[in-house]
Amino acid sequence: MLFRSFRRRRLRRGDFPAAWDAILRAEMPLYARLPEPDRRELQGWIRVFLAEKYVEGCRGMVVDDRVRVLIAAQACVLLLRRAHDVFPGMRTVLVYPGTFMGRARTTGPGGVVTLSEDPRLGESWFTPIAGGPVVLSWPEVVAGAADAHDGRNVVLHEFAHQLDAESGEMEGMPWLGNLDRARQWRTLLAREQRRLGAQAWARQPTVLNTYGAQSPAEFFAVAVEAYFERSAALRAHHPELYDTLRAYFEIDPAAEWERGGTAAAGHGAA
Ligand SMILES: [Zn+2]
Repeated sequence: MLFRSFRRRRLRRGDFPAAWDAILRAEMPLYARLPEPDRRELQGWIRVFLAEKYVEGCRGMVVDDRVRVLIAAQACVLLLRRAHDVFPGMRTVLVYPGTFMGRARTTGPGGVVTLSEDPRLGESWFTPIAGGPVVLSWPEVVAGAADAHDGRNVVLHEFAHQLDAESGEMEGMPWLGNLDRARQWRTLLAREQRRLGAQAWARQPTVLNTYGAQSPAEFFAVAVEAYFERSAALRAHHPELYDTLRAYFEIDPAAEWERGGTAAAGHGAA
């Protein structure tokens, strides 16, 4: 434990490779736009992330620095400024060269178990003791970094699920450290999830991706995407949700990162 915090401190203080900086300036507009102290902090966490996590290519995907750095940088945006343990449940990121097949297991009436497969862009696994990997489609990683204002970012989405899992289960709530706060969070998110479901049903334009109406866990993940990518619109249309996320992330993207950012609403289903 002590050794790990010593090693993390050393990694965070070390130089950030110029080649990594060039990759991020070219491919992740948010990185170039960050205030200097945030960018320096992000660089430190990228170095820690890449020292502690393993990024593995699947189905012929070649993993080079571009792949590793672009994933780590987007994931580590979720760690800035607050106390955290660098996604403690996740040790491996699996990267596919495109969509991959995900397996779902559902139990229907009479206990009939159905196994199904469908194409996925990203997945986040969690088991209470062993944690689990994040699985990503590489073109989505690139697209997520390139457009910081469309409210869609597969890396933010899947790593938001990992934050969610830090509370012990994936149920739409990260570790909040306080029961009252957890109760308020649950009530607010349930209300917002119902509202999103009603808006999707009525085919109204939404700031949040309507995929979030599926479950509390998906609601939290799409709310995190919107918080960082459509922050001004989220603050305008969902102020209570925005404030709740701000209290957790200890960052105010709409006020601090969004000078001149877009506030347009209207986003369809995933
Ligand atoms: Zn999800």
